Amino acid sequence: METKIIDGKAFSEKLVETVAVEASKIKNAIGRPPALAVVLVGENSASKVYVRNKIERTEAAGMRSIEHRLDADTDQATLLALIEEMNNDDAVDGILVQLPLPDQIDEDAVINAVAPEKDVDGFHVVNAGLLATGQDSLVPCTPYGCLLLLRDQLGSLSGLNAVVVGRSNIVGKPMAQLLLKESCTVTIAHSRTKDLKEVCARADILVAAVGRAEMIDGDYVKPGATVIDVGINRVAAPERGEGKFRLTGDVDYDSAAAKAGAITPVPGGVGPMTIACLLRNTAVAAARRFNVDIADI
Ligand code: NDP
Repeated sequence: METKIIDGKAFSEKLVETVAVEASKIKNAIGRPPALAVVLVGENSASKVYVRNKIERTEAAGMRSIEHRLDADTDQATLLALIEEMNNDDAVDGILVQLPLPDQIDEDAVINAVAPEKDVDGFHVVNAGLLATGQDSLVPCTPYGCLLLLRDQLGSLSGLNAVVVGRSNIVGKPMAQLLLKESCTVTIAHSRTKDLKEVCARADILVAAVGRAEMIDGDYVKPGATVIDVGINRVAAPERGEGKFRLTGDVDYDSAAAKAGAITPVPGGVGPMTIACLLRNTAVAAARRFNVDIADI
């Protein structure tokens, strides 16, 4: 059977179109479009690219983007004061503080300072707790994007064996919670897992969020499994010229694709879904704050 390549770029474009329709409904109801505030502290070059993309895509979806750029030496109190101001600003629906933050700032303190109803990253402990107890919450964007791709590919996920490799708060843990909510039998694997290959090779759904370039090869993949590669790694690509890089996932694409039933590529798989889900969360946050009925997106 031929392996299906899951086109996250095309799916994310459709999702953004749907979000734009819902955003315009919200605008009609409250007199302004949903608004996302993004805070960037310092000069991390990858973060600058992500933030630029987020701003462009927010505006393309008919929503308002508010940008705060702070110096790399900004202290924690200054950042917390800005967050407090945005929490109290009725014209701000979503707040995203781009991670990582400089060393002088405690990330957990910042994440938990954002009002949970404006926490479009879904990282606040209240949103994590709501998700873990199966209640409505703002769900972290990357795992939610993976879930949308899985539902589109497989329909019902009920009863499937899912293995998530990685247990971070931003990807692995919320991914596992979402799959559990879909009635998968979920295993969370990590750096101390014994016999990782055997564990993974039992998975109908294998999600790789490891942060190690091309670690998960075909030996980890059950024939016919659906493989979701969350990883984004920059590796040297001397074949493209001196000092050049290419992006690659946590999955060794060719060998995994030879066994999988379906697989996400990198780039063009999970990556574009993350921003689309951020826009979705912004629309959802605005709709909930002002009791506007929107479609289930
Ligand atoms: P973290 O570094 O926070 O977590 C990595 C996890 O992988 C940890 O739980 C770690 O285990 C586990 N791990 C590391 N090495 C191994 C190993 N040899 N065997 C088994 N498990 C291992 O990463 P993130 O969750 O933040 O990100 C994961 C990947 O996803 C990265 O490549 C990142 O770039 C990418 N990413 C992509 C996004 C997108 O939009 N597509 C968004 C966010 C992240 P332990 O806990 O024991 O240390």
